[in-house]
Amino acid sequence: MYDIIIVGGGPAGSTLARLVGDRFRVLLLEKRSFTEDMGFIGQKCCGGLLDPDAQRMLARFGIGIPKDVLMSPQLFAVRTIDIKNRIERYYQRHYINIDRNAFDRWLVSIVPPGVTVIDGCIYRSCEDKDGYISVRFSQDGREYEEKAKLLVGADGAFSGIRRQCFGHLPSPKLYICIQEWYRAGGGSRNYYGAIFDDDITDFYSWTIPKEDRIILGSALAPGSDALRKFGELKSRLRDHGFDFGAPMTRHGAYLCRPLSTGQVCEGSRRIALVGEAAGFISPSSAEGISYAFRSALALARALEDGIDDCMARYRKNLQTLKRNILLKNLKCPAMYNRSLRKLAMRSGLLSIDVVE
Ligand SMILES: Cc1cc2nc3c(=O)[nH]c(=O)nc-3n(C[C@H](O)[C@H](O)[C@H](O)COP(=O)(O)OP(=O)(O)OC[C@H]3O[C@@H](n4cnc5c(N)ncnc54)[C@H](O)[C@@H]3O)c2cc1C
Repeated sequence: MYDIIIVGGGPAGSTLARLVGDRFRVLLLEKRSFTEDMGFIGQKCCGGLLDPDAQRMLARFGIGIPKDVLMSPQLFAVRTIDIKNRIERYYQRHYINIDRNAFDRWLVSIVPPGVTVIDGCIYRSCEDKDGYISVRFSQDGREYEEKAKLLVGADGAFSGIRRQCFGHLPSPKLYICIQEWYRAGGGSRNYYGAIFDDDITDFYSWTIPKEDRIILGSALAPGSDALRKFGELKSRLRDHGFDFGAPMTRHGAYLCRPLSTGQVCEGSRRIALVGEAAGFISPSSAEGISYAFRSALALARALEDGIDDCMARYRKNLQTLKRNILLKNLKCPAMYNRSLRKLAMRSGLLSIDVVE
């Protein structure tokens, strides 16, 4: 019997395991393999940028990123392209550019040795029994069952645990993200591109340089039209100097955007949700790594006084993070309403001149 079973070895799950692994018997279950090089096929679909909030959390944790997790170039500017309003602006912002798979592998490598990590396995179901929770998972075609006092769903957007156990509660707005990787060609630039066009999506699209490659990504309404819209985005970006050529690979992933704090679900009784499974992600920028860190820390702090009643303490510890979601939603109209965005960008407020 474990004290805690964590499903999901992304930033939320591995951070929680790192923070509580010395005090509790912890089992961490993860679908991906942390030992094999997953290459392009097993890539976590992510932009791999650590924004200032994620950097602040790394500072609070007192951990520094090893250099084999970094990818060049490091980025200091956002090029904002508003296609419909025909305006472009640059803004200063510092991102750490990482290899997301290497980052996740590194975060798991620093959990305490007492944590049992089983990768390459798939969580299937759970059952709240008298006094404990039973968790079923499979690996290499075999089924296993383990018991714990607390189950933590850190299984990301479209969390299976959230759908199974809290599917009746309001959920965040669902997007399908498509990312294609291209050879960068001569014109690749040292900025993070944020692209707004409400014909394509009511959220946004992005470009991110990665070594000799460039990612084009977009958060789109799920459905059969998503790929067509992605193609349309690519062709519209030609007028802005992008010529992507043939994609090297394409990935897709769900993203759950919380449009109100009522869509965040931290769990109850013997099941806690952290990170994107709970709905913790910025509704304005889709930045989620700092939220994964912060919700994991909130749960780790709640566990300092033991597992009993930890959910009440966790809920209390999440108040600031939920307020943050509320504030980010208040900021959204200035970014996602075409007229307000036009006003903001036209004013040039906070923008910088780029001298090339
Ligand atoms: C296209 C895209 C680009 C993004 N770019 C950025 C960015 O640049 N910067 C940023 O800060 N955020 C970004 N985000 C958001 C960020 O990726 C997430 O918010 C963050 O990864 C959430 O961390 P997490 O640990 O909660 O979940 P995840 O990182 O999704 O981890 C969940 C883990 O659970 C595992 N899992 C899922 N189901 C099971 C199962 N049944 N059994 C076992 N394991 C399971 C998965 O394999 C995964 O490893 C992006 C998101 C998308 C979709």
